[in-house]
Amino acid sequence: NEKLAGKVALVTGGSRGIGAATALRLAAEGADVALTYVNSAGLAEEIAERIKAGGTRALPIRADSAQPDEVEAAVEATVAEFGRIDIVVNNAGVFTTGALDDLDVEDFDKAFAVNVRAPFVTVRTAARHLEQGGRVINIGSNVGERVPFPGFSIYSATKAALIGMTKALARELGQRGITVNMVSPGPTDTDANPAGGPMAAVLTGHTALGRFGQPEDVAAAVAYLASDDAGNLAGATINVDGGFNI
Ligand code: NDP
Repeated sequence: NEKLAGKVALVTGGSRGIGAATALRLAAEGADVALTYVNSAGLAEEIAERIKAGGTRALPIRADSAQPDEVEAAVEATVAEFGRIDIVVNNAGVFTTGALDDLDVEDFDKAFAVNVRAPFVTVRTAARHLEQGGRVINIGSNVGERVPFPGFSIYSATKAALIGMTKALARELGQRGITVNMVSPGPTDTDANPAGGPMAAVLTGHTALGRFGQPEDVAAAVAYLASDDAGNLAGATINVDGGFNI
């Protein structure tokens, strides 16, 4: 399967979880992949080695999404290394939750910096290089649309903001033949939300399928949106949530 042969992708937060699965999937479809991380240098290097073993190029980049200059530099490093950029996956995110009294303004600012401002800066920078057929895929969340539990004042606000930004960017870039869409995961087994965690039974109870998703489930939807097959989707959201939000 070489649907993405010759394409260059940048995946933010590609060292673990959904981002790592996405980096590996895009590479398996033929793309060269740059992946950012903030702390997990070793894990990012491991993902890069697995990509290279599969026959495409890989570039791990340390770039803190909370720092706009580092985000911008990561995009430019991708273009410098691979000569182009075709696919941007805004995946890095912080899962900031808690009761109102346990959350402060610093939590709010950090979450918006990573989950909302960084995707804006990434796309603004990448848009200078993206060509016809370019793809932007934002990773949202099921709780960006519906919020069935307390504790999500900040996190849900960031993901709802990303829905609006996805639509606005789809308008902004659509005339250039660049699509912007979103994949919104439901409960997905990662370090941020382990299938064995304290909330697991409650979360799976809300799904139609009665189970946690795997990072690979989300990666498959990203790969579809990145492909030529998805050329007529703009500003759309694919919910990969086991039916959590139906
Ligand atoms: P993980 O916590 O498992 O992984 C997070 C990834 O993002 C890591 O690669 C991490 O890098 C990176 N990252 C975190 N903060 C920064 C930062 N400041 N700068 C750069 N990279 C950063 O998360 P998930 O895989 O679970 O989540 C990925 C996305 O999916 C997020 O946007 C999340 O909101 C969304 N999502 C997840 C759901 C779930 O159930 N898991 C449900 C709905 C949405 P490092 O390893 O260096 O820390």
